[in-house]
Amino acid sequence: MGFREITLELSTDYTDEVARDAIAKQLGIREFTWQIQGKSLDARKKSNIHWLIRAGVLSDELIGGEPFVYPVLEIPWKKRTTRALVVGSGPAGFFAALVLQKAGFQTLLIERGSKVGRRSDSIQTFESTGTFDPINNYAFGEGGAGTFSDGKLTSRTKRVAAEKQFILSCYIRAGAPREIQYLAHPHLGTDYLRRIVKGLRKEFEALGGQMQFETLLTDLTIKNGKVVAAVTSKGEIPVDEVVIAPGHSAHETYRMLIANQVQFQSKNFAIGCRVEHPQELINKAQWGRDCLPGVKAAEYRLTAKGDGYLPVYTFCMCPGGMVVPAAAYETTNIVNGMSRYKRSGNFANAACVAGINLETLLKKPVEPLEALDWLGDLEHRFYEYAKDYRAPFATIDGFIQQQAPSRTVDTSYPLGLTPAPLWDLLPQAVSRSIAQGLTVFNRKLKGFDSGIILGLESKTSSPIQVVRDKDRCCQGFSNLYLAGEGSGWAGGIISSGVDGIRSAMAIVQKAS
Ligand SMILES: Cc1cc2nc3c(=O)[nH]c(=O)nc-3n(C[C@H](O)[C@H](O)[C@H](O)COP(=O)(O)OP(=O)(O)OC[C@H]3O[C@@H](n4cnc5c(N)ncnc54)[C@H](O)[C@@H]3O)c2cc1C
Repeated sequence: MGFREITLELSTDYTDEVARDAIAKQLGIREFTWQIQGKSLDARKKSNIHWLIRAGVLSDELIGGEPFVYPVLEIPWKKRTTRALVVGSGPAGFFAALVLQKAGFQTLLIERGSKVGRRSDSIQTFESTGTFDPINNYAFGEGGAGTFSDGKLTSRTKRVAAEKQFILSCYIRAGAPREIQYLAHPHLGTDYLRRIVKGLRKEFEALGGQMQFETLLTDLTIKNGKVVAAVTSKGEIPVDEVVIAPGHSAHETYRMLIANQVQFQSKNFAIGCRVEHPQELINKAQWGRDCLPGVKAAEYRLTAKGDGYLPVYTFCMCPGGMVVPAAAYETTNIVNGMSRYKRSGNFANAACVAGINLETLLKKPVEPLEALDWLGDLEHRFYEYAKDYRAPFATIDGFIQQQAPSRTVDTSYPLGLTPAPLWDLLPQAVSRSIAQGLTVFNRKLKGFDSGIILGLESKTSSPIQVVRDKDRCCQGFSNLYLAGEGSGWAGGIISSGVDGIRSAMAIVQKAS
């Protein structure tokens, strides 16, 4: 039996039969099995948009060649009595807990929100009545921030092959389609994610791991640089090792950590708004036509960097998706984006943000607590403007010219829009740069300025970063690990999951 890896160029609506014929022709063989190892859309020429497929082919008619194998994360198991507490059931916390449980620790995972079913109900009530639930919302609850998202599984983090494969294979076991392993731009959609989150919980519990919901970590009991107990809304929990993965919305948890001498530093981050267009407009601009058989919806990723302006870029694009009210706290008003697996909604949205350094923006040194205050105040300013969860909005051309909208617009945002001078609500350097960026994007993507720009997008990354020792422990502590987006060392589902895995592996290595 021999193996070959070949590249196929196939039309967007190819069938399995067409692919088999192409392989047989290219390799001159008749009997074989094959598997897709990589698949990306080549849309560089609108007249010839096609799939580029990397196929692994096994056949008795071939000689030699090593079959492709996905890298595997080795987790050494040993019988242990060590109690590991993990805080937060987002990707970082969940995968940290799973690795620790697989390694033989007595693992307890606590989560401030409820199980995903109850969380979904709260979000539905919020979107139909405007009644905000501080326990279960887009930021808090089982599965973390990404559960109600587009579920993009791309990651810019380098050298994460084994950890990433571990995450993807867990997702596939929990019901995700196998394509996430080979697509260049894999995504799950919120419909898959909600089911997957339940499946992952079952896997963890079947291994003996414990999950406790509606349990908020409020404080730590520390002796000589060692956390000996976690104080929670449901009582004290004695611990030997602690991983805290609270995401970057949990500002009161950050404040508690800072009060307990956990060291943070300010870091660069990004703020801005969301932009929204009819999906058909994006399809036409990217593909030269309304739809492309075999491809869900067109994507874009735009960047602009001009002299004297902050770098502006689009981020977390949700084709065929919706803009959602993503506030984590009652009197804040922020937006984010999500979509379903089919990406079949009528709108496309994306964050449009400017990268900032707060010290440069404010022209003074900024302590981590001040960075949190500054961001919280901005989120509150948008709430104060709207007086509720309607999203402040402008048209894109209106934003560029600083003109309030004079027309009503269609949107996917469920809680309604309110016209607003967004350029005044954002810091001046940010709105100036975004206006410049939008002008550049309009040159790159036809019709871009006919869309709308709405809300505050403040959650692309954390404004602060924990100071870690070389063994990943929080500096000055012997058993406290801060993982995922809340640590400031990761952002996005995959990189946060990887960061959680690496924190857990650091504990495993320490204990072996
Ligand atoms: C609407 C939306 C769409 C997104 N879309 C994408 C996308 O398509 N692709 C992508 O890669 N990323 C996306 N993201 C970002 C992604 O969700 C995050 O980067 C990722 O979830 C971070 O993982 P985490 O585990 O570090 O934190 P989180 O997922 O934020 O999880 C933290 C968890 O900790 C819990 N928690 C917080 N404080 C406490 C406490 N004190 N006690 C107990 N529990 C606590 C929270 O309830 C939460 O469940 C999106 C985010 C949002 C909000």
